[in-house]
Amino acid sequence: MSYLVNEEGYYGEFGGAYIPEILHKCVEELRCNYLKVLQSDEFLREFHQLLRDYVGRPSPLYLAHRLSERYGCKIYLKREDLNHTGAHKINNTIGQILLARRMGKTRIIAETGAGQHGVATATVCALTGMECVVYMGKTDVERQHINVEKMKMLGATVVPVTSGNMTLKDATNEAIRDWCCHPADTYYIIGSTVGPHPYPDMVARLQSVISEEIKKQLLEQEGRDCPDYLMACVGGGSNAAGTIYHYVDDPRVQIVLAEAGGKGVDSGMTAATIALGKMGIIHGARTYVIQNEDGQIEEPYSISAGLDYPGIGPMHANLAAQKRAIVVPVNDDEAVRAAYELTRLEGIIPALESAHALGALEKMHFRPQDVVVLTVSGRGDKDIETYLRQVPALP
Ligand SMILES: *Cc1c(COP(=O)(O)O)cnc(C)c1O
Repeated sequence: MSYLVNEEGYYGEFGGAYIPEILHKCVEELRCNYLKVLQSDEFLREFHQLLRDYVGRPSPLYLAHRLSERYGCKIYLKREDLNHTGAHKINNTIGQILLARRMGKTRIIAETGAGQHGVATATVCALTGMECVVYMGKTDVERQHINVEKMKMLGATVVPVTSGNMTLKDATNEAIRDWCCHPADTYYIIGSTVGPHPYPDMVARLQSVISEEIKKQLLEQEGRDCPDYLMACVGGGSNAAGTIYHYVDDPRVQIVLAEAGGKGVDSGMTAATIALGKMGIIHGARTYVIQNEDGQIEEPYSISAGLDYPGIGPMHANLAAQKRAIVVPVNDDEAVRAAYELTRLEGIIPALESAHALGALEKMHFRPQDVVVLTVSGRGDKDIETYLRQVPALP
């Protein structure tokens, strides 16, 4: 038994491809091609060269001395915040644009909420000279002005979506509509381990470079290739999937996932999908979804725009259902406090999303000999205004 995807595109009872008939050909074309391409020597050579020379990989595995002292164990930080464009998302967009090119596609579409995936997509489109259209809810366009300007500067067309709540869910619907209308020349880059099979598996594989590096780096620095704990935040699940990929079937490693508690899981303002979600279908996958009694998807809330997703990747839903992973909700205030703590102890300002993984540290009980690897998925530059509005009482 494995916690990775099976032949049918499922993780236990989660996953699959629940899509309208009109998208069947697009998704099937992708399913038939992705493994062949991702495993070819020629793809791997170009992918790894770009990860090295363009993204700046391998990202460091940094032994955080003062943070370790604070929590009474050995904490290593996997520094995805040091990547080009400031987060792990670029690993995935580079992989998918190389795949799109090999499938003969010339036009790229994407959806974005906070704008981080939109910027990562616009970046690789500039890099490869591809046309780029990014769908973004009008509310998000107004909230995330800088990312919109970045996408435009990179040459992308940003389409504000005015249906529904004008946020991520509505932008996703619009991107799917576009794909239906342009199946021949268009490739849809999804930004996380969500969507219909094969997307969750494909994105996890492209992000798995994170755990591939952790193995090597831990062996060099610790003399063993596995930690006792792996910790990451979960929105859709891509940085977590990358962090755990090569360890997921290794029972020596405890997996800890932090989801966004928002103002508290019982407050009605939360994005804690594992704590609250019920089985449903979202973006073409069967997984836990935050929904009301009528099965309507509820608008999620988190201080962190990147974790503010009403579903969760099918891989992670299964890890939680099988109790392979511990999933802890971390509330806004706990995340902000953890971000200030990392900043003052280590001189690293984390993204608000990553701050949720850090906020889970105080909920754990570590032994002094425990080795913990925690992924800092992105840098906090984009979140400075939010941090300054929420200064906690500091010791
Ligand atoms: C988008 C984002 C996330 C959440 O997405 P996952 O797919 O769950 O990784 C986390 N951290 C940062 C910095 C992000 O930009």
